[in-house]
Amino acid sequence: MAEIMTVTGAVDGAHLGTTLMHEHVFINLLREYRGTGLIQDFPLMRSELDRYRDAGGVTLVDVTPAELTWGASPDPCGVYRAGGPAAASAEHTRAPDNVTALFELSVATGVRIVLGTGHYRDPYLAYEGFDQRSVDATADLLVRDLTEGFAGTRIRAGLIGEVGADQWFISPREERNLRASARACRRTNAAVTTHAARWPVGRQQLDLLLAEGVPPDRVVIGHCDTVNIPEYHLDLARSGCYVQFDTIRPGSEYALETRVAHVVSLIRAGFINRVLLSHDVCGRDHLQAYGGGGFSYLLQHFAKRLLRTGLDPAELDHILVENPRRALSGEAG
Ligand SMILES: [Zn+2]
Repeated sequence: MAEIMTVTGAVDGAHLGTTLMHEHVFINLLREYRGTGLIQDFPLMRSELDRYRDAGGVTLVDVTPAELTWGASPDPCGVYRAGGPAAASAEHTRAPDNVTALFELSVATGVRIVLGTGHYRDPYLAYEGFDQRSVDATADLLVRDLTEGFAGTRIRAGLIGEVGADQWFISPREERNLRASARACRRTNAAVTTHAARWPVGRQQLDLLLAEGVPPDRVVIGHCDTVNIPEYHLDLARSGCYVQFDTIRPGSEYALETRVAHVVSLIRAGFINRVLLSHDVCGRDHLQAYGGGGFSYLLQHFAKRLLRTGLDPAELDHILVENPRRALSGEAG
């Protein structure tokens, strides 16, 4: 079976197991979400991942874009390393300390971690390094992360993203970012995973990626559950990309019942192969230690709701194991 790249090396897709497709471990979102948007505590995240493993989780995909790793790098003793954005961003990729900490965390917990490489969205893209580089030069750096390893490490990325649109349209900087991601995808066959929150901008993202020659099944459109438009989900599924419901958390903007309905209706419409699920943990208040659902909410609560609405266990397994395996390995379908 096709291999998937994790922080501890390539694994056979057959061993991927239950996989969360859109999460963040160490992250710095202080620019927009003051207060809870900084996670850099190694022992805290070790206990959160332990809980995920104990709930039956096997693999977690950390799609933290480069810009959100700057200034959020712990070391395995839990001590924050000073250095700040400038030191960390010299290579305009994931901070090396972030990559190393995720490797150490995977070894400590036994949870497999797959890393994304890429750039986020406006206003995070407004920095010199991004603006001074051509689309192809940005693509070259993504390919380096995917094929040789992140700067300063030999640890390789396993997919591209998350790559975002801030609003209901794709800004000029975001367009360049998407094109670079598309070109890196064409050179490596790595999946491109997107941030398309609140508005149905995932359709425009998909169209742009398709126009660059990316096959639809290499694209994961994210945050679809924050867009409460079932026709949008169906349209994406019909186009052949993955439709990801990835903000499954207690107290989310839309009721969990609505999310259950979205998932079940796509499956009953014949698109079980297109559905992906995750929590998008990105703030301390999302963690179990702070009263949130953490990385276990899907397995311990949301799955039960799906089963109660008539999904059978094999269908649940299909969307938590088989679909991530195909999305990450590049196996057709
Ligand atoms: Zn995210």
